[in-house]
Amino acid sequence: DFIQMFVRKLRGEDEEEELLIDYVTKEVNNMTVKMPYQCFINGKFEDADNGKNYDTINPTDGSVICKVSYASVGDVDRAVAAAKEAFDNGPWGKMNPRDRGSLLYKLADLMEEHQEELATIESIDSGAVYTLALKTHVGMSIQTFRYFAGWCDKIQGKTIPINQARPNRNLTFTKKEPLGVCAIIIPWNYPLMMLAWKSAACLAAGNTLVLKPAQVTPLTALKFAELSAKAGIPKGVINILPGSGGMVGQRLSDHPDIRKLGFTGSTPIGKEIMKSCALSNLKKVSLELGGKSPLIIFSDCDMDKAVRMGMGSVFFNKGENCIAAGRLFVEESIHDEFISRVVEEIKKMKIGDPLDRSTDHGPQNHKAHMEKLLEYCETGVKEGATLVYGGKQVDRPGFFMEPTVFTEVEDHMFIAKEESFGPVMVVSKFKDGDVDGVLQRANDTEYGLASGVFTRDINKAMYVSERLEAGTVFVNTYNKTDVASPFGGFKQSGFGKDLGEDALLEYLKTKAVTVEY
Ligand code: NAP
Ligand code: MG
Repeated sequence: DFIQMFVRKLRGEDEEEELLIDYVTKEVNNMTVKMPYQCFINGKFEDADNGKNYDTINPTDGSVICKVSYASVGDVDRAVAAAKEAFDNGPWGKMNPRDRGSLLYKLADLMEEHQEELATIESIDSGAVYTLALKTHVGMSIQTFRYFAGWCDKIQGKTIPINQARPNRNLTFTKKEPLGVCAIIIPWNYPLMMLAWKSAACLAAGNTLVLKPAQVTPLTALKFAELSAKAGIPKGVINILPGSGGMVGQRLSDHPDIRKLGFTGSTPIGKEIMKSCALSNLKKVSLELGGKSPLIIFSDCDMDKAVRMGMGSVFFNKGENCIAAGRLFVEESIHDEFISRVVEEIKKMKIGDPLDRSTDHGPQNHKAHMEKLLEYCETGVKEGATLVYGGKQVDRPGFFMEPTVFTEVEDHMFIAKEESFGPVMVVSKFKDGDVDGVLQRANDTEYGLASGVFTRDINKAMYVSERLEAGTVFVNTYNKTDVASPFGGFKQSGFGKDLGEDALLEYLKTKAVTVEY
């Protein structure tokens, strides 16, 4: 039909090339899920060139879901060459921006058609609670593609008055141009959403990309690759390589033909990547790194809301949330009431199979992460913080961790300083009325990703939000991210925004053209 013809034309193919996919098929969550498991290079699914693969694990019971290709340095080089060819000579580079937008809308529609399947795959590979996966992991990914699809034909430069070279006249105008081949390296906490946040902006700007998902959560990225091909995104524009950070990630950072690297992950790895990007070819980088976001709760808050959102700030997505509140500062006069209400609510949380629609809290993403969290809690206890609730592994198969609450946490303690990235609430008191004191403590961290404040006093809220050193400040809410609002950190939480117009600029360069007439 017409759409298919259009798609074939955009892909530069006269005859429809059959996309051959060797799926792993599973009956799960009352549906059949079809999962590609090979590297996606130049529009084709294929084994890693050395034939290696590895097991991806379901954290709900520790079982193997399937084997996944383990990409090599040779695969990276082939993928980058394909992305370069697609950018330099393929239909993508010549396409009208509005047509590029149409393809991205088509991709978002296909993701929506497959949202239950994507959410199911996300749930079994990452332990995300299915209902949340549907709404957030997959739902926000779809919204992200729609949002950036709309930007494609609105990427504009400026006309700039410069000094004239009399008697002639001059005009300078700027153009926003794509950078070329981009690399994207992402973590495991929101596997598809992290892919979407970076890829959608990257593609809307007109670039081509090679993406490495986290080793422990490769499956939704590969399903996305399939949908991108079905949407008619030309071959070579999107390449997905499951594999290790040390090999695939390192080669991407070093590669001379890559012009930009977008990274979300830990601060230490972010520093390594930036160093490699600088030494290889000075590629542009954006880094979304760790956080230890403070949440300040004043006694004049709406207590019901503060309890509900305070819990969400920590336990959302089992605490595997980059903007999770790493530290709660609660004003002394409401401290005990706040804690007892939080504990009461935790007892009502249903821990269990993430595919069960009534589950609130699923397994941690993978075994090593759960073990690190248990150690984190042991350290908290050893240092003398009060363990009010949890701190242990749940007695059932899989990698479940109890929602945990620590109080009496002092500023020098490990758990006051280091990110857990798990369901661990770390609470400290502050003296009644000591706004500047609590601000000083909240800012006494090298991180600066997010922050929050609960108070009914608008002046206090404005004062505090002005002084918090963080890329995001939530006032009387938390976790309220939106595709249209820029997201990213200050200080050692990195630089360069995801989402919003700012994200687009991360994937563009500005050319100034000066004309004399
Ligand atoms: P990580 O160890 O930094 O890994 C992130 C990604 O980098 C993975 O794909 C990893 O590959 C890869 N990688 C590892 N070493 C590399 C190297 N030498 N060169 C290139 N890539 C390399 O982080 P994580 O433990 O998976 O994720 C948790 C961290 O991410 C937390 O600190 C969290 O705060 C942060 N995070 C931040 C945001 C944000 O928006 N700011 C969002 C989510 C998460 P492997 O698969 O082999 O590990
Ligand atoms: Mg997994």
